[in-house]
Amino acid sequence: EERIISSHMAMEDETVEFSLRPRYLKEYIGQARVKDNLKVYIEAAKMRQETLDHVLLYGPPGLGKTTLSHIIANELGVQVRTTSGPAIERPGDLAAILTNLQHGDLLFIDEIHRLNRSVEEVLYPAMEDFALDIVIGKGPSARSVRLDLPPFTLVGATTRAGSLSSPLRDRFGVMSRLEYYTLEELSLIVSRSADLLGIAIREDGAEEVACRARGTPRVANRLLKRVRDFVQVQGEGIITAEAARDALDRIQVDKLGLDQVDHKLLRSIIDHFRGGPVGLETIAATIGEEAHTVEDVYEPYLMQIGFLQRTPRGRMATPRCYQHFGVENPQ
Ligand code: ADP
Repeated sequence: EERIISSHMAMEDETVEFSLRPRYLKEYIGQARVKDNLKVYIEAAKMRQETLDHVLLYGPPGLGKTTLSHIIANELGVQVRTTSGPAIERPGDLAAILTNLQHGDLLFIDEIHRLNRSVEEVLYPAMEDFALDIVIGKGPSARSVRLDLPPFTLVGATTRAGSLSSPLRDRFGVMSRLEYYTLEELSLIVSRSADLLGIAIREDGAEEVACRARGTPRVANRLLKRVRDFVQVQGEGIITAEAARDALDRIQVDKLGLDQVDHKLLRSIIDHFRGGPVGLETIAATIGEEAHTVEDVYEPYLMQIGFLQRTPRGRMATPRCYQHFGVENPQ
């Protein structure tokens, strides 16, 4: 079952995400450092009438990487082509995409760390020289022909910059890391989304949704939609702190944005392993998730709020975590 606090894109998000997506930098809330730098690079590229350098955006899912790539294209006044690492299976697939680009286009590759090696090798000359090397023929008579590509900007997104190969990483001129949003930023995002969805919200209502959103706009927007359902059906049609709290308690997302799966994960470390250290694989097994999902998606937030610690011998529950669950810390 899909978790309400999952930061991954779910089916139901698609249409609404599109309508809530900011279109220009000035509407994009937070990530000040990333935004300020991009503003300069975009301005400079426009002044010189050149394409923007290739950009790598990295950070946990749902923080606005796809949104930002579209914004960059809008600010540059160019078209976006969107694809993803797993969608490009063979070198020929990528060659087809590249040869269809128009001058100045922005090519967005989501989950770029999942490109396979043979596809990646097509990307190197494309990024560096805007060229495509094609091998014609087989065996001793085979020869390589170089085709020119239109200049373009590649924007890659990844949840783990560390698993990008270094030749690929080196070809990005700009690397920007997106951070979890602060409570104030998320509150603004929630208020803005409520406006766009046409539902009244009080400031304290927005804050209540924001503090349970795990620092993640995608989660904030999803929680907001759920709260809206309760408020429109049972409430007075305005999201107050109380209304938000009631709705979110009912769907079992606690004050820190933790759901039943987080509880299970953390409680198993406390109850079965005396607070750890416990190996990642063991933790993943207790909640029935893949180890890499636990590591990339769930743990970063639990570490961010100081509930979980990664040590060389495994994961440990922190004193703050014990406190949250009201369990006495044996250590
Ligand atoms: P990612 O690509 O990192 O997984 P998305 O770009 O798809 O994340 O963002 C998820 C949703 O969160 C978007 O549809 C958008 O509505 C919202 N969002 C993301 N970043 C912001 C922001 N800075 N300001 C307002 N809304 C945002």
